[in-house]
Amino acid sequence: MTVRILADHVINCIAAGEVIDRPAAVVRELLDNAIDAGADDICITLESGGHSLIKVSDNGCGMSREDLLLAFERHATSKLKQVEDLDGIATMGFRGEALAAIAAVSKVTMRTRLASEQVGQQLLLEAGKVIDVSAVACNCGTEVEVRNIYYNTPARRKFLRKPRSEEQRIKSWISQTALVRPGTRYRLISDGRELINLPARESSLERARQYFRGTAIEIEDELAEIEIIGLVAHPALAQADSSSLLIFVNQRLINDRMLIRAVREGFEHTLKDREYPVGFISLAVPPDQVDVNVHPQKSEVRFRDSQQLFNSIRRSVGSAVRQFKGPVDVSTRAVVDYATQIPYPSGSTGNQQPFIQEGLGNYGSGDSQHSILVNQDRPSCLSESEFKFSDLNYIGQLFECYLLCQLEERFFLIDMHAAHERINYNRINLLRHQREIPTQKLLLPIVVELSEEGLMNCLEHQEVFKQFGFDLEQFGGNSLAVRSVPDMISADSVQQLVREIAAIWEEGTAHGRFEQEFEQIAARIACHSSVRSGKRLEQQEVRALFASLDLVDFSSACPHGRPILVKFSKAEVEKWFGRDR
Ligand code: ADP
Ligand code: MG
Repeated sequence: MTVRILADHVINCIAAGEVIDRPAAVVRELLDNAIDAGADDICITLESGGHSLIKVSDNGCGMSREDLLLAFERHATSKLKQVEDLDGIATMGFRGEALAAIAAVSKVTMRTRLASEQVGQQLLLEAGKVIDVSAVACNCGTEVEVRNIYYNTPARRKFLRKPRSEEQRIKSWISQTALVRPGTRYRLISDGRELINLPARESSLERARQYFRGTAIEIEDELAEIEIIGLVAHPALAQADSSSLLIFVNQRLINDRMLIRAVREGFEHTLKDREYPVGFISLAVPPDQVDVNVHPQKSEVRFRDSQQLFNSIRRSVGSAVRQFKGPVDVSTRAVVDYATQIPYPSGSTGNQQPFIQEGLGNYGSGDSQHSILVNQDRPSCLSESEFKFSDLNYIGQLFECYLLCQLEERFFLIDMHAAHERINYNRINLLRHQREIPTQKLLLPIVVELSEEGLMNCLEHQEVFKQFGFDLEQFGGNSLAVRSVPDMISADSVQQLVREIAAIWEEGTAHGRFEQEFEQIAARIACHSSVRSGKRLEQQEVRALFASLDLVDFSSACPHGRPILVKFSKAEVEKWFGRDR
């Protein structure tokens, strides 16, 4: 074996493997460069999902001839000078590798012109080598064409995904970027079809309203030095994976389990174990508080004070989520995300209709689960803040469980158990914080049989039980004697309830975090103290329930995140009967 220093070209190919792992990564890097160049109009053109051509044109600052020649050298960057600069990166790029990596594995043409110059410059490269430089007439800004990606690295070419999947990835990347860089216009043209046409917008929230459908709530918060804006969907719309929760830190999309966990915790008990909220959170953190230099694709970062960040996110999300008041719109259950899973509108193949465009109607093929997100006159994503339960006209009870109500051109179904549960849950939490849970002493202690582990857990957490108004002691074998219980609990549910609480520690669903344990216990107690289906409610009981609902936070979901009420419009009903035609 002989040790040798690798030739530059080989080094660039290796680096390319890391930075440019697929055509979508080229778009990501070129988009970043256009943004760093201050562009507010960016157009991306693809042929066969980027396999044969990726072109990105911007109206940014452009480059001089000298800079153009340097830009494709490895470690050539205008964004960083010294090590200290790494502590305050405010640009998307800084590693100076992207252009070198892209050029190493494709044929590149770059045209660029400074505003102060009459003519622009054009550079041709093949496999990283400069073929030609010449003066050309071109617009101010920069245009990069990347052709035949991986033509000289057959191993990589074999792993290329289908053009459609690459196009999809690129489409979502652009929509996601547009969310946190709203001041720019974005277009995507793929094989001659315009797929994205997003004009500049004032703010991320304004942009987000174009994307979201379904019940969601906006977040705008500032805690310590951290600014948080975002939009989260009702927990009833949560999904089984985290792909529809986008988290940005200083405008970079970040995949970070700690941040995802913080958002989930903000939802408190409303999400099931493996459920993730839908929405986006964008954090503005002082640049010296985050280290962005930990991942070649910059999709991971490190925080100086991650605990503080965690708490801020949890708090802002939590207080937003508590404001969910209005009904959950079941007709548009899916809060479709950023153009990722949007199917092609039926019959549109080959026409020039833009895919995502504002001000147009719904292209959906009738399947509302997959309707395309386009701007509506009135953003339907906002929960109805003026909504009041006590305004509803109560009609009657359905299946001895759902309260049927009408208000103007809509009708509602309210899950009476879920509603009652929410009220009780909030009340229990409040009383527990004030250490004032009223208790009742049982005349005869109730004996609860448990597993060995269950018993251990209960004895170990006797203090916690006490906070909730339970008085327990060991009673021989694996059983407990319960001497007093919270007063909202009836004696016949005590055994079941104690077992359920014991199970919280057994299953470890609370993962040893006290607040979560408390929330889960409160939810169990609330469940057992609430009206069950099968009970007939009197008119006055319904009115009292509605009045209480108007006073509680987060009155549109039960403590487990299920909706309390759903609404239907008269138009929908008319559709069922074909009266809309
Ligand atoms: P980095 O973005 O990390 O600096 P790149 O290889 O992506 O590294 O780009 C190298 C340099 O080329 C940039 O620092 C920038 O000065 C210049 N450059 C790249 N793309 C553009 C563009 N679209 N407009 C103006 N300058 C650009
Ligand atoms: Mg770059």
